[in-house]
Amino acid sequence: MDLIPSFQVDHTKILPGVYVSRTDDISGHAATTFDIRMKRPNIDTPITPASMHTIEHVVATFLRNDPEWKNEIIYFGPMGCLTGCYLIVKSAPRPEEIAKLLLRAFQHLASFEGEVPGATAVNCGNYALHDLQQAKIDAAKYVEVLENSPCFEYPKSERIEVDGGRIFYDS
Ligand SMILES: [Zn+2]
Repeated sequence: MDLIPSFQVDHTKILPGVYVSRTDDISGHAATTFDIRMKRPNIDTPITPASMHTIEHVVATFLRNDPEWKNEIIYFGPMGCLTGCYLIVKSAPRPEEIAKLLLRAFQHLASFEGEVPGATAVNCGNYALHDLQQAKIDAAKYVEVLENSPCFEYPKSERIEVDGGRIFYDS
């Protein structure tokens, strides 16, 4: 099987930021998947499952209620590697625009008080797996990234070839 494109990015060089992971054409309509990278892969301590679950609930709720963007949001959810999230939106906005939306969303989470939305047995598949305090800490760290110098382009200058499951980096 072919290595899918998102695995072909050299993860040893990714810094926290906002990246276009891919843009798809769905029956003539563009949909863009953003890589919402919160941690340096394999270097920073990854986000815990409980914190990530809370990030998913609070940020997805914020995005789907934002007056400007709610009709553009297709999906928001965690990466399996727990170093960030994926956001899928209609059309093809630039990562700089998405970063402004994410800044508001993660500021909202960093100062969030009260019940995590949807964290009940009726609304969620594992409602005990939440950690709002850690999610607020993780959100505040990502707000710092977004306010300072988030990266918007994947590391390049390397040609990556995939041959029979082995990956060659030409740098
Ligand atoms: Zn849930």
